[in-house]
Amino acid sequence: MTASGRTSARKAAAEKAAPAKTAAKKAPAKKAVAKKAASGEVAAPGRTAAGRTAPAKAAAQKTSRAAKAAPAKKPARKAAHPEAVSKKATVAVDHVAPATTLAPKPPGNETRTALVRRARRINRELAEVYPYAHPELDFENPFELIVATVLSAQTTDLRVNQTTPALFARYPTPEDLAAANPEEVEEILRPTGFFRAKTKSVIGLSKALVEEFGGEVPGRVEDLVKLPGVGRKTAFVVLGNAFGRPGITVDTHFQRLVRRWQWTDETDPDKIEAAVGSLFPKSEWTMLSHHVIFHGRRICHARKPACGACPIAPLCPAYGEGETDPEKAKKLLKYEKGGFPGQRLKPPQAYLDAGGIPAPPLGAG
Ligand code: SF4
Repeated sequence: MTASGRTSARKAAAEKAAPAKTAAKKAPAKKAVAKKAASGEVAAPGRTAAGRTAPAKAAAQKTSRAAKAAPAKKPARKAAHPEAVSKKATVAVDHVAPATTLAPKPPGNETRTALVRRARRINRELAEVYPYAHPELDFENPFELIVATVLSAQTTDLRVNQTTPALFARYPTPEDLAAANPEEVEEILRPTGFFRAKTKSVIGLSKALVEEFGGEVPGRVEDLVKLPGVGRKTAFVVLGNAFGRPGITVDTHFQRLVRRWQWTDETDPDKIEAAVGSLFPKSEWTMLSHHVIFHGRRICHARKPACGACPIAPLCPAYGEGETDPEKAKKLLKYEKGGFPGQRLKPPQAYLDAGGIPAPPLGAG
């Protein structure tokens, strides 16, 4: 939710540079990986094993797709741990391809079925790691959620959560915010950054809600994306979390992680949404988004993923892109995984029950 062109560009550059760190990594046990990849059992797909171990000549014989994914000059990354992949990897896959417009070609040699199986297994594991995963914006109703989501551009959910209590106390409805004095709203929104533009957005959004939707947030993506400042990402956040309608939230974390896991090679958010959506039943889309984003914020960071403390390392083709030393990796963990407060001032009870700590109010920490 905090993606911005500038931030994304920095992160993309950081990610692009990251594999260089792995130059000294050892190649995996090629035979074992290749054998398991062929059987569809191994977490690390064929592309990973081949791409990381293939010499220049062999790499040149690969298809352009494989070559793009693992160029010969690219240093070998440490493989996933095939030996750690349990029998669960052979669980039968049902609903392999839900109805969507896109059935992406799996990367490298991995079959479509193996990709679906691997992706779903990662999601199941993440569900165990984050059973309390939830949207990290505080909200009481769809109006608060859509406003908070718009405000979350280019800042953290924490900062939004620390700012919106004052906003909604003064302007609890679209009608109130539509009629607000912009200067007063600007003062309230100042801590979120870009406060003048955001003031314009949320007042414009509120006016549109009042004038076109009777003061209610619409529950259809086609209507939501017509609102000023609302794109598909915001629309799906609102649909998934305020209306219970499945949606995939392709934010900066989601984009980074699904590429690391080789779920898709797409870079355009809409194409990523379609490609990943086709790997899962629709009913799982919203929680899948939370799992992936939680993991990206806590463990699989952009610059230094905590691979050595990552519970899904055995399933990850990008294992080794970050810190592999368990003790050092542990120090990189964030929020509840590192023993720190979360982003919500009012987190769900499940989060508190799991030892999560509410975020402090503005100015308190
Ligand atoms: S932290 Fe490392 S092992 Fe875990 S998902 Fe991210 S890249 Fe893979």
